[in-house]
Amino acid sequence: MRTLRNLWRLFSSRPAIPDSLWQAGLERLPYCQALDSDTQARLRELVLQFLRTKTFEGAAGLHVSDAMRIHVALQACLLILNLDFDYYAGWQAVILYPGDFRVPKEHVDEAGVVHHWHEELSGESWVQGPVILSWDAAATPLDKHTNIVLHEFAHKLDMRDGVADGCPPLPPELSSTNWARDFLAAYEKLCAALDQGELVRIDDYASESPAEFFAVLSEAFFLSPMVVRADFPAVYQQLATFYRQDPLTLLNPT
Ligand SMILES: [Zn+2]
Repeated sequence: MRTLRNLWRLFSSRPAIPDSLWQAGLERLPYCQALDSDTQARLRELVLQFLRTKTFEGAAGLHVSDAMRIHVALQACLLILNLDFDYYAGWQAVILYPGDFRVPKEHVDEAGVVHHWHEELSGESWVQGPVILSWDAAATPLDKHTNIVLHEFAHKLDMRDGVADGCPPLPPELSSTNWARDFLAAYEKLCAALDQGELVRIDDYASESPAEFFAVLSEAFFLSPMVVRADFPAVYQQLATFYRQDPLTLLNPT
């Protein structure tokens, strides 16, 4: 049944995003409301493509409505608004849980001992696999401080080369050497500040690893661009070139 429905979505000429749902989706996301109408139309095309090529599955009994699909797709496509849809090639499914979900984890320590445990997560991205989200977390409006949808899809961009390391495949106008230099300096600055017990203005989960730093900074780039520009100016510039967007100017027009 799911396959039939997906085929219908793929080939149907019916508009897949009713105006009422599209407007409701935009209104939940202040950043999208600030975009001009031409850009919103371009975003809508990307969202339509996302809905036609990705599958959504509800887990733990969650019914996934069209409004929920549009909400997630809108945020996912915001990241690639000025990139190519192929940035999301190579994987298929978005899985939504009603709330946080438990996943088994495994780690082999230096002595070769395998440790198993469970973690409660609100989001997870697999290399060439699904994006898994808590709907409770995903429903957070874009004017809040953090956003799990932007976070997990930023991981997807990072993992296009098969590894989550905070350095996604870069466009020709960006130098991987300069990217690594600027991100490493900012990451070390954040870790040093946290070690000193200083308050930081971004989610301190960014200190977990360079991959989490990239994902958290990508969230903050869209949610709190003034903070990223002020505290990590070189990273702001790298992200603006990478995403080909300038949220600071969009949200604070002169
Ligand atoms: Zn993460």
